[in-house]
Amino acid sequence: MTYTNFSIETDADGLALVTWDMPGRSMNVITQEVLAELDAIVDQVASDAAVKGAVVTSGKAAFSGGADLSMIKGMFSFYEEQKRTDPDHAAEKLFELAGSLTRVFRKLETCGKPWVAAINGTCMGGAFELALACHGRVAANTASVKIALPEVKVGIFPGAGGTQRVPRLTNTQDALQMMTTGQTLTPQRARAMGLVHEIVDPDRLIEAAKAMLKAGLKPVQPWDERGFKVPGGGVWTPAGGQLWPAASAILRRETYGNFPGATAILKCVYEGLQLPFDTALKVEQRYFTEILQTTEAFSMIRSLFISMQELGKGARRPAGIAKSRFAKIGVVGAGFMGASIAYVTAAAGIPVTLIDRDIAAAEKGKAHSEKLVKDSVGKGRFSQEEGEALLARITPSADYQDLADAGLVIEAVFEDRAVKTAVIKAVEAVIAPDAIFASNTSTLPISGLAETSIRPEQFIGIHFFSPVEKMMLTEVILGEKTGDGALATALDFVAAIRKTPIVVNDTRGFYVNRCVFRYIHEAYDMLIEGVPPAMIENAAKMAGMPVGPLSLNDEVAIDLSQKILKASIADLGAASVDPEHMALIDRMVDDLDRRGRKNGHGFYEYPAKPAKKYLWPELKTFYPQQPAEAVDVEVLKSRFLVTIALEAARTVEEGIVTDPREADVGSILGFGFAPYTGGTLSYIDGMGVKAFVALCERLAADHGDRFRPTALLEEMAAKGETFYGRFDPYAKSRAA
Ligand code: NAD
Repeated sequence: MTYTNFSIETDADGLALVTWDMPGRSMNVITQEVLAELDAIVDQVASDAAVKGAVVTSGKAAFSGGADLSMIKGMFSFYEEQKRTDPDHAAEKLFELAGSLTRVFRKLETCGKPWVAAINGTCMGGAFELALACHGRVAANTASVKIALPEVKVGIFPGAGGTQRVPRLTNTQDALQMMTTGQTLTPQRARAMGLVHEIVDPDRLIEAAKAMLKAGLKPVQPWDERGFKVPGGGVWTPAGGQLWPAASAILRRETYGNFPGATAILKCVYEGLQLPFDTALKVEQRYFTEILQTTEAFSMIRSLFISMQELGKGARRPAGIAKSRFAKIGVVGAGFMGASIAYVTAAAGIPVTLIDRDIAAAEKGKAHSEKLVKDSVGKGRFSQEEGEALLARITPSADYQDLADAGLVIEAVFEDRAVKTAVIKAVEAVIAPDAIFASNTSTLPISGLAETSIRPEQFIGIHFFSPVEKMMLTEVILGEKTGDGALATALDFVAAIRKTPIVVNDTRGFYVNRCVFRYIHEAYDMLIEGVPPAMIENAAKMAGMPVGPLSLNDEVAIDLSQKILKASIADLGAASVDPEHMALIDRMVDDLDRRGRKNGHGFYEYPAKPAKKYLWPELKTFYPQQPAEAVDVEVLKSRFLVTIALEAARTVEEGIVTDPREADVGSILGFGFAPYTGGTLSYIDGMGVKAFVALCERLAADHGDRFRPTALLEEMAAKGETFYGRFDPYAKSRAA
């Protein structure tokens, strides 16, 4: 038989090598077709007496990334369709569909012939669940083998047997840790956990897998053997008695119960380990079906899996413009941001000229990369040679002539219009006529800066977030005159440095900072109302924010907040800033010199390590305190999420953000907006615009007009619309 996605070669010993190599794709993924073919291959291997066993491997650099977008999207649309056409049986049919991988994998492990997975590269999600169903697993000894069950990160969980096989191979604690965090394992760690049997040199992978078969690998999984015992003891053992109460508590501490997918993992393992394997798989399938019906799973998959990939692949890139090849990038300003921008550019293999006012300052900027390289080499993240090659790509300079052959120049000089104007002039005097100029300004509108440019259509904003090495998001800002060529170049650059872009129109604070400051200002309001500071921080985390607003403000720097508030007053008038906010911040900065983490004193105190930071006790004396019992934590949680989501809705109404995918992905990657919601607009769509408007009205009545729903929201509520319906990101491609 021939297959589209697999080839099979049986050798003289009767060992079948099943190579997964999907045509026209760089990565193998599980699709309905792949699954159907795998099903047929299992039958073929099982029924052909000449075949003694099989090795499954990949013909690509990676083993597989797991389930395909289309398959996951298909499950949601299938269920929606069933609810419309056959509501009484919709959940039952979803249950059948949710078990489709499990059925094939279980058939593979019980087919009577031994199977070995030869893991040659990254092996994620459903693909690792396939490997777990094999009787043997061999991994290549290379850093490119990354093993994970990351489903929880997109709101679901390993529902193709993962929650049952992992804790039957390794101790329960490690199994729970692996699945509830979605952590990536090296082959060494996977072997130590008992998830991989052997690690061999990459060129010996297939040979070793076959050797395992020849050595008489049993075609029976440990859990199908009589007398099988769960590693480390089962649920009803002293070890289990210690583990389970703590496991629930830890998960609660980490997630505040916001992630149904993570909670389901605990339930699957706890219940499954007490049951025979096939029944345990059914339990998993039931929870999987339940999770697929949650708003959290739907929204997280849409934003964190589908939209993120689409944006990363250039969903907003204008068509018909040749892809930019970057022979050289210029970075002007080798300070905090510029030094890091140079690093990520060089790390992506692109030569950079890093300019500052004098060569010493430029070299200081390069020293940042030297430190990062040293650390990475020390940690074995890359080799000495790779590190040296990276550094060789960064040329410090004080001479603008060195930018003459740069296709893109990014400025990260002081946040000062006059300094930036001078830099724009100096750069434009030397770069090629078709080169693009980008500003990393965080507060100055791009259209205003572009007025000093001699070619505003080639002028754009590329707004990075700190720390640049870690933050996956960049905001690309279009000035009034920015042309498609500049946008395409900026997006090509962001793709080259492997970050996710959102494209927004020009406005004060752009998208991310507009939302972030709403979050921080809500905390100011709570402080002023006398909400105990610890409650403010905890309520924000309970709402799903990764960092409390006061802690975040300390990181951003309180004097920067002061500068921004003052700039608003100067540019937009006194009414643009709440005088009580200004008074609070002036007191912190001017009277008390509490600037945040950078000077060791902010809303928190930062004692010398290893002591941990703690909320500054005196903060409680600023305003008469409400007793904690009088404060409704649920209201605090709503206030944080609603104030941010409302700001996001305003940016859509103003035409700043035009694609709901960007508002959602930008909010999660930019400032960690409660990821279980799927982002700011999914939060609104998820509860329904009507319910959101009602919530806003309640909050406005109790806490002020800043919560008033906008005209657009009211109109959408009246019409029963959603953001993804009204601002359908796929409308154009569907029409084409
Ligand atoms: P920084 O003060 O650390 O660095 C600025 C650098 O620019 C300094 O090394 C300085 O010597 C250099 N410089 C000043 N004038 C110059 C000139 N005429 N020619 C060449 N170099 C010159 O500042 P930063 O925090 O890196 O911020 C830089 C820009 O990035 C600002 O526009 C800021 O708003 C923006 N930004 C900062 C952050 C952040 O978190 N710090 C985040 C996003 C964007």
